[in-house]
Amino acid sequence: QADLAMYQAKAEGRNRLCFYGQAMRDRLTARTQLENELREAIEARQFILHYQPQVDAAGRLIGAEALLRWLHPRRGVVPPGEVIPIAEETGLILPIGHQVIELACAQLAQWAGMADRAGLTLSINVSARQFRHAGFVDDVRTALRDTGANPARLRIELTESMLLEDIDEVIERMTELRSLGVSFSLDDFGTGYSSLAYLKRLPLAELKIDHSFVRDVLVDANDAAIARTIIALAHTMGLEVIAEGVETEAQRALLAEGGCDAYQGYLFGRPAPADELPRTARAPAPSLGPH
Ligand code: C2E
Ligand code: MG
Ligand code: MG
Ligand code: MG
Repeated sequence: QADLAMYQAKAEGRNRLCFYGQAMRDRLTARTQLENELREAIEARQFILHYQPQVDAAGRLIGAEALLRWLHPRRGVVPPGEVIPIAEETGLILPIGHQVIELACAQLAQWAGMADRAGLTLSINVSARQFRHAGFVDDVRTALRDTGANPARLRIELTESMLLEDIDEVIERMTELRSLGVSFSLDDFGTGYSSLAYLKRLPLAELKIDHSFVRDVLVDANDAAIARTIIALAHTMGLEVIAEGVETEAQRALLAEGGCDAYQGYLFGRPAPADELPRTARAPAPSLGPH
């Protein structure tokens, strides 16, 4: 609806906007302004990545997730929640996603020694629209080649919304990337609509338990059951399982009882600029309680 209104507004000139009323007009103006600013941001390369540590059951660093941040010239650091939805709607997710791949691969190459020694994986988030785009595999291949990053250290996080697309095409694209050495994680698992029949066909390395289940895992028996079921499912299918949004030791301990392999969340570190990750790597393992 907003798209159509904006299209009409653009087509018919600004005077026509009064037709929609003040609230609508304000919204469209804000949106158009954001869209224009995003175009400038792409041009000026105002996007950076923050990195959040991922640890294994013993608290050792095993990887990081790259999370988009927009260094807005006036507003400071803008989180992805304000960027990704409009970027997806407008198609700007393609150039933004392209920069994310380049930034992540460059960082991975810079971390080569540490990453290879410790077997770290760097995970990046990819939108359905970006993954579907014909040039995606080539973008990844080129970024890996140009930076010299080790493909075996790169992991792509997909979401279940991807599985609403032509599944054979998705599998074909995943297989192509697998042959480069890249691995896959299914993000926000349990919140989407994945069919188990599809799931077993995907060349995945990992399931990522959505933070909505982790948040109440101690107080909501259903969430605890879901988390345990996802862990068991992953292991039955030969996949690793990581929990996101782990904020407390009690949450971690409960997930560990269920056999969870890896953890990510404020308990272990917030997303931060790249130079802070090696510090995390050297930091002593957080207290893991009586085990
Ligand atoms: P996600 O991929 O599920 O990423 C996890 C989000 O949870 C991140 O939010 C992270 O900062 C936050 N988080 C991590 N630990 C905790 C915790 O202990 N507690 C709580 N409450 N939150 C935690 P962020 O960075 O705002 O990113 C939000 C979403 O934006 C991501 O969710 C992902 O879907 C999307 N996104 C981020 N970067 C990119 C990107 O480069 N490309 C695309 N397409 N999407 C991205
Ligand atoms: Mg993610
Ligand atoms: Mg997630
Ligand atoms: Mg999530």
